[in-house]
Amino acid sequence: MKNLENQNDIFPKGEKASADYFTGTAWVKILVPQDETGSYVIGNVVFEPGCRNNWHKHPAGQILLVTGGKGFYQERGKPARLLVKGDVVIIPSNIEHWHGATQDSSFTHIVITNNTKQGAVEWLEPVTDEEYLNCHTTVSPKQAKIKLTEGAVKNHEELFPGYKSTLKVTDPELIEVFDNFAFDEVISYGNIDTKLRVMMILASTIASQALSEFKVMLAGALNVSVTPIEIKEILYQSIPYVGIAKVFDFIHAANEILQSREIKLPLQSQSTTTRETRHEKGLELQKEIFGDMIDKMYEESPEDQIHIQKYLSANCFGDYYTRKGLDLKTRELLTLSMLIALGGAEPQIKAHIQGNVNVGNNKETLLSVITQLLPYVGYPRTLNAIKCLNEVTTN
Ligand code: MN
Repeated sequence: MKNLENQNDIFPKGEKASADYFTGTAWVKILVPQDETGSYVIGNVVFEPGCRNNWHKHPAGQILLVTGGKGFYQERGKPARLLVKGDVVIIPSNIEHWHGATQDSSFTHIVITNNTKQGAVEWLEPVTDEEYLNCHTTVSPKQAKIKLTEGAVKNHEELFPGYKSTLKVTDPELIEVFDNFAFDEVISYGNIDTKLRVMMILASTIASQALSEFKVMLAGALNVSVTPIEIKEILYQSIPYVGIAKVFDFIHAANEILQSREIKLPLQSQSTTTRETRHEKGLELQKEIFGDMIDKMYEESPEDQIHIQKYLSANCFGDYYTRKGLDLKTRELLTLSMLIALGGAEPQIKAHIQGNVNVGNNKETLLSVITQLLPYVGYPRTLNAIKCLNEVTTN
């Protein structure tokens, strides 16, 4: 990778630092190698905003000379010290500590590290997001006060216990508005419980192609006992509605998160059909949800397009809808959530509103679902979905 030089830099940026010892991106340039002096090594380190090194200690200490930006130095158990250009830090031998940039600024320092027979540094565990964000809160004199309602705090805490939002530090006004709205005002509406709400939001993020939000919500989902099987089923169910091109990255992201929680893949099989039975079983389920409309669709299909009707029965319904792991009422709500988030699928939204009503999800429930998705899909898609709801349920 080409490392862009900043004209304000005094020394070259050097090579990208090892991800084993840094969170975020840092660049290290050795200015004086250890074998030149025999006893110490001098280097220049550039941290990009948000980057810090792991907790570590130096058997014979270290000196930091700050040449640019804003950063932190923190010793274990002590408050972080804010560092700016011109600051000098003398780090005693064997004291556990870390250094790095603040969230909103890069940070450059020169390090002079004494070498010993045991080496110059002993690396420890990464600095957690919580430790890192906490030090911003304790040193920043202008930390904004965010006024969150009791409900917003409680509902957020249920999904993300102990989570320290980085946006709370960088965008406090936004978080006050968004969290009070999405985690209190909207959640207070209707009759959807937490688990179902999170599953619907997850489904909508796939259709919206919101990978980062999906990952955050997936962690929240696991915290409110959405099972790995249910997560996989949401992903598989999205394939016939959203298309594999859009679901691919989400499957990989979910696998990473599940495997990081030591969940072994593949999960138990949820399939209920075979190559031989998929068409028959799919068609049966299609008729259970949509009734006589399915026969009509086959009858009205031109001969050269009948294969699409067969695909719908055998593939969309036979391969996916017939799977276990989600009950039909839930699966139908999740499909609707994807269609709403997808946009431009109003005919299908109407069909699945009718499908939902047919399997026992009433108008009140559907209006709750549409409302819960609002903060994640925006007003235009919400209003389009409500228009479809009104058209289908009043006819
Ligand atoms: Mn150090």
